[in-house]
Amino acid sequence: MFSRFCILLILITYFPMANAQISPYEKDNAITVSYQELMDYYRLLDTKYVQMQLLEYGQTDIGKPLNLIVLSADKIFDPAQIRKQNKRIILINNGIHPGEPEGIDASMILVRDLLEKNSIPKNVVICIIPIYNVDGMLNRGQSRVNQNGPESYGFRGNYQNLDLNRDFIKADSRNSRVFQMIFNTWQPEVFIDNHTSNGADYQYIMTLIAPQKDKLNPVLSEYLSSRMLPDLYKKMKSSNFEMTPYVNNIEETPDSGITGFLETPRYSTGYAALHNTIGFMPETHMLKSYPQRVEGTYKFMEHVIEIVKRDADLIATNKQKADADVRAQVSFPLQWTLDDRSFSLFRFKGYMAKYKTSEVSGIQRLYYDRNEPYEKDIRIFDHYIPLDLIKKPFAYIIPQSWQKVIDLMLLNNVQIQRLVSDMEIDSEMYYIEDYKTVNKPFEGHYLHSQVKLRTEMQSVKYYEGDYIIYTDQVKNRYIVETLEPQGVDSFFAWNFFDSVLGQKEHFSDYVFEDEAARLLKQDPELMVRLEEEKKINPELLQSPSAQLDWVYRNSKHYERTHMRYPVGRLISPAKIELN
Ligand SMILES: [Zn+2]
Repeated sequence: MFSRFCILLILITYFPMANAQISPYEKDNAITVSYQELMDYYRLLDTKYVQMQLLEYGQTDIGKPLNLIVLSADKIFDPAQIRKQNKRIILINNGIHPGEPEGIDASMILVRDLLEKNSIPKNVVICIIPIYNVDGMLNRGQSRVNQNGPESYGFRGNYQNLDLNRDFIKADSRNSRVFQMIFNTWQPEVFIDNHTSNGADYQYIMTLIAPQKDKLNPVLSEYLSSRMLPDLYKKMKSSNFEMTPYVNNIEETPDSGITGFLETPRYSTGYAALHNTIGFMPETHMLKSYPQRVEGTYKFMEHVIEIVKRDADLIATNKQKADADVRAQVSFPLQWTLDDRSFSLFRFKGYMAKYKTSEVSGIQRLYYDRNEPYEKDIRIFDHYIPLDLIKKPFAYIIPQSWQKVIDLMLLNNVQIQRLVSDMEIDSEMYYIEDYKTVNKPFEGHYLHSQVKLRTEMQSVKYYEGDYIIYTDQVKNRYIVETLEPQGVDSFFAWNFFDSVLGQKEHFSDYVFEDEAARLLKQDPELMVRLEEEKKINPELLQSPSAQLDWVYRNSKHYERTHMRYPVGRLISPAKIELN
């Protein structure tokens, strides 16, 4: 139902002004721009317009810089000054998956149009990363087998073969670290990360992953649900790009319902949520024509800019309230689970799912019949229940040996202080009692989950220069969700602290036998505990070496740091001398 009308619309709205700078995609709608053409295009615009700056921020994994385009109506390009002027900042990210290049091509046209039509809003500064995964963009091919164009495009993995849209917490790529620098320098209120979706066939060109409403700060969530999202859906519909929430099927087809996407902090928009930034992930539908997808992405960005321009003051107030909330927030959920009983109905425009015999296997296969479009209510399950609520400590204490953690904290504008001398501090320490680990690497890591902890109060020796992070900050969500080991995307989950899981010293059975016997004789209470343990644990009863190990672990010889999570929790105010 969209196609003919949309192509006509594209021809009308795409006709650039006379003498306008034309992008390679506009010259040939079947192609997407190359990296060289992309940078040449923006460099040329940069020389023509004083309302644009093309900035360079550090390097990506392939040694090329990460660029940022800033569009500012009054030619102020200093983020601190922009914030002082009470302007909103939108950050748009393109090509995290370079095989999904609509955003790359659409942004080129959008930037050009805003400059040539002199239509950059006075109260909004627009920042655009023209290409995030430079590495992947340079590795051009046809790796997205199911996608309907363009002819060739970049590859999903970066130069380390990482999926950069899983790299926002572990930050293994230089791309991610530079992105975090940009994000925390500009501190956008609204963020867009442009993508293309896979999956079922249906009538929509545009689908949207909005921030998960139960995970986002409630103030932002209320504005998003009651105003911003309904307006965005309305505006996209009136531009003939009616949207559906991202089609995350419960079963094989959308008919049985879809679930809201839980963008945990490893994803770009989940990372944005940690910073009280509203993050959208529009996903165009891969089976629609490339020009339709580019135009849909253009319209999406245009409408977000319109809404931010209109609601600029409200967005600022909400952000301030949300930040104040987080600063004072006491308990934080670390996991979320889908409520499978709570759903709403959505009028969905699909294609009939049917089955026929496969020419490959001879077995029944699924297909969607585009000759049978339908419209019906489907169930959307989008209520997530917070789990593992944790009470924040007064402060976290991080030994300086964990430098990568400190570097990431600093990159994320976390306020950190340092101890001025060696000292012992009463700290609540976690012991890792149990955890599960995947058996194949995921994004270069053996991810941990289902972490079980035991806590112990200890007087821990810290050293001059160790770090202390107080939890009265706007960055509390970033701090707590990364430092609490049970967090779904915590630093512990991503293997930052795996060395504490290994035991450093052991004993020789035959030598320790005599010492173990002496220890038991010396401490009758220990002997009683061992006997009780043997009664309830048959394996222990039958294994001489397990019994020796039990005595060893309960003796002063056993290292207290084994399985001890090294980040201390200061649970009450203590006077500590700091830098
Ligand atoms: Zn993607």
